[in-house]
Amino acid sequence: MGTLKLVLLGILFISFMVFVAFFGRLPALRNTPIARLHRLIWIHLPNAIVAADERLSSGKITRSLSRFGQHLMNDRHPTVVIFFLAIMGVSEIMFLPQVWSNISRFTQLTVALTVIAPYTFLYLSCAADPGYISSQNLKHHMRLYPYDYALFHPGRECRTCRIPKPARSKHCSICKRCVAKADHHCIFINSCVGYGNQHYFLLLLLTTSILTTYGGFLGTSILGSVLKQRNPQWSFWPSKGMTFNKWLGILGWGIQRNVNLGATTLLSTLISPLVWGLCIYSFWLVYCGTTTNESLKWSELQEDMRDGYAFRRYLPASASKDSRPGSTRWPVDPEQIILVTSDAQPPVENPSTPGKGEWERVRQLRDVENLYDLGLWENLLDIFLPSYEFGNVGKKDEPVVERQRSKRRGKSAKRGPF
Ligand SMILES: [Zn+2]
Ligand SMILES: [Zn+2]
Repeated sequence: MGTLKLVLLGILFISFMVFVAFFGRLPALRNTPIARLHRLIWIHLPNAIVAADERLSSGKITRSLSRFGQHLMNDRHPTVVIFFLAIMGVSEIMFLPQVWSNISRFTQLTVALTVIAPYTFLYLSCAADPGYISSQNLKHHMRLYPYDYALFHPGRECRTCRIPKPARSKHCSICKRCVAKADHHCIFINSCVGYGNQHYFLLLLLTTSILTTYGGFLGTSILGSVLKQRNPQWSFWPSKGMTFNKWLGILGWGIQRNVNLGATTLLSTLISPLVWGLCIYSFWLVYCGTTTNESLKWSELQEDMRDGYAFRRYLPASASKDSRPGSTRWPVDPEQIILVTSDAQPPVENPSTPGKGEWERVRQLRDVENLYDLGLWENLLDIFLPSYEFGNVGKKDEPVVERQRSKRRGKSAKRGPF
């Protein structure tokens, strides 16, 4: 039993550390012990190792490790994709033969679909162009979203690609290209998540969450029926008439009796909340009409606002070329410009600065509109229907903008979990 407890603790510890290492930087976890642990893993621990190596081998070991690490961290490579495929593949090879003969034809069909779906969406997420921007397709990407004059301002150029930055785009230092509607670079798909593959990525998260939950549920119900045959009093919730040690003893017997089924069921059950957490977070961002990259930017803007460095003023519809109806497919135009100054004084008046009237200090994020949030349904349409026109086709001068604006005014501002 000692071994089983150790294995359980080991799996729990590894799952937790993987979560901290990969997701500890999420804005939602800022100022929590998880973010501090993330810094310990990625900053303080490597620094301590470098200092120790400097004394022992004048830094030779860490220099060669660092070159290897630089390649792992800064270049595209499929290591994590292979790891992801290996975990899924090996678990399924261990799991499926144990349950296949115990389930009905219909369940076999649902199991087959549940197993195939994540591979399909993993392939599509990896293979699809996430929305790499080049001088050839720049015009198309410029038309996707208007500048919101809060997070994205016109007239900025990517220093590496030497092309103008479309609204919502970001240069990825790993892909070494600019990506349209950049969300984040995902090592699990060895590519960026952006305008071109965000729908596949969301479906990958959803189908992987379903796979782990279904695997855990199926394994648990088969394991439960075996354990009940041996001890009819046993159930997954320890009953009053049974001590915890006896309950764990029977569960341990069940897992050891069929290690393949027991280990994979345990793994699916433990991984399931982590995958659902990431899936729900990603759909929450969709609901908020934002991306991981933008939620970081909103978070920084919020801090500047709190410190009194952010100012805004009214932006007439004709203020810029890209806010003219029809210049982008987006149905809404920006109504305000937000600028952050370095001296907490209103921006110096300059003929090239857009907007009209006095600058007013803005203190709270909820006073600022998120131009890219059209409501859940239209946010989903934007993701799942490429180049969706939002009813703009052929009626560019129709009052679509006004209609959308009045609809949006009634809604409470939401910008993501930070
Ligand atoms: Zn670039
Ligand atoms: Zn990338």
